[in-house]
Amino acid sequence: MALPKTEIIPCDNCYERGSAGSCGSTRNCLACGDVEGKFDVLFNRVRAIQKKSGNFDLLLCVGNFFGSTPDAEWEEYKTGIKKAPIQTYVLGANNQETVKYFQDVDGCELAENITYLGRKGVFTGSSGLQIVYLSGTESLNEPVPGYCFSPKDVFSLRTMLWSTSQFKGVDILLTSPWPKYVGNFGNSSGEVDTKKCGSALISSLATGLKPRYHFAALEKTYYERLPYRNHIILQENARHATRFIALANVGNPEKKKYLYAFSIVPMKLMDVAELVKQPLDVTENPYRKSVKEASIGKQIPAPEEDSACQFFFDLNEKQGRKRSSTGRDNKSSPHPKQPRKLPQPPGPCWFCLASPEVEKHLVVNIGTHCYLALAKGGLSDDHVLILPIGHYQSVVELSAEVVEEVEQYKATLRRFFKSQGKRCVLFERNYKSHHLQLQVIPVPLSRCATDDIKDAFITQAQEQQIELLEIPEHSDIKQIAQPGAAYFYVELDTGEKLFHRIKKNFPLQFGREVLASEAILNIPDKSDWRQCQISKEEEETLARRFRKDFEPFDFTLGD
Ligand SMILES: [Zn+2]
Repeated sequence: MALPKTEIIPCDNCYERGSAGSCGSTRNCLACGDVEGKFDVLFNRVRAIQKKSGNFDLLLCVGNFFGSTPDAEWEEYKTGIKKAPIQTYVLGANNQETVKYFQDVDGCELAENITYLGRKGVFTGSSGLQIVYLSGTESLNEPVPGYCFSPKDVFSLRTMLWSTSQFKGVDILLTSPWPKYVGNFGNSSGEVDTKKCGSALISSLATGLKPRYHFAALEKTYYERLPYRNHIILQENARHATRFIALANVGNPEKKKYLYAFSIVPMKLMDVAELVKQPLDVTENPYRKSVKEASIGKQIPAPEEDSACQFFFDLNEKQGRKRSSTGRDNKSSPHPKQPRKLPQPPGPCWFCLASPEVEKHLVVNIGTHCYLALAKGGLSDDHVLILPIGHYQSVVELSAEVVEEVEQYKATLRRFFKSQGKRCVLFERNYKSHHLQLQVIPVPLSRCATDDIKDAFITQAQEQQIELLEIPEHSDIKQIAQPGAAYFYVELDTGEKLFHRIKKNFPLQFGREVLASEAILNIPDKSDWRQCQISKEEEETLARRFRKDFEPFDFTLGD
């Protein structure tokens, strides 16, 4: 991003306060709601605060920075007659009218000391303070107008951050709209009904990014929610809490709060114990349905209900146990099953079965927790993936019942391929991927022995300085890989596994390249899946054939 990467110089602040050098990495920040063109009101207020409380390092503005008022006041800042008293960062337009002020989508200086951050991205100050910003309002229709963001924007923002190893969260998230459902489990949000108002995409972004502070505006009111948890108590290690603060518009007659002052030490400089200390008034995560609430049957709308159970789609094939999301088929079943609660991705996902991004024509079998899909651009016509229906990043994160079904699919596929004179090789790469994909590639028995496959992996790994550890049959990846750690492993048809802990720069196509190599399948031109793309009609034909062939082995049929 073409922004000055320096944040305010550290720090004449502490001199003024008689504690020279002691403040170290603390940043004193101000956040502001919709300015709507009232620049003088805002900056006079900031000057008054600085006079009283000492200097602040930066001012972050969410919501509408420009209003529909004439430009005279802005001209004075733009031409340098007036100057903002503090380094000010602003989000972009929320309507067509004000798009004209934000010329460069990547961010730019609008006036001295006033910087437009850009449509979306990450801004890291020299102190290490990490600020993620997303400009505009939600749009679900492509192409999105210049003042909107789409699911794709949210997805790419999340992917960008998640691909940094050991992602724990971000310091600050700036959005203009409120996240939908933010009021769940919290203190009252006043006149704003958070079940109706706000953006579900922002909720999923906040869920994924785990900001320590999240600021929003546009609703012309002030709401400081009680801090909420980012971990599930008794199931996950403690994480830092999130404070959501919505700010009113500048100079509003009701004198609702529009400016919020806070001090923050960048999380990367903090001791973990200090960071994850839970405030006494911390609440449940508003974007997650609490287990307790769900079990007592109290209906708390949560983001996942928007797409609840859409994974029960019709495959146009006999699928045994009939399922329905509407309850229409429940006549035959005296105890209709409650919709299952699934882990949700923080943004669009190409592999969550409920998500619209899934290429449903490639799905060949659906179980209770997992499903099978043909690999896109597979190494062979029957190269399949075992995928969890809900959003799990890796095998390490699966619950016992999901693991059990993964194992059931593995065993069934082994029998299925064996009946066709093939053995299965499986691999998983938990690196630069967000949804678990267990690749299953059948290799004709006549091509090579299991030991040849093992040798090929070990040799080709050595050539690329990849250390593959042999781990014994029946041993569990969970015992070897830490949650969140990147890894690759291949599982042979004997159950033996070769495991590699990924530190950095793992070749993404490694598993595929070895299988395509001369030593195993000998189809080197297929080592890149992009070279193997076929038409949708051909994919449909292959999927139909697989479903039919697999049917005699299908354990999900019948009860
Ligand atoms: Zn997913």
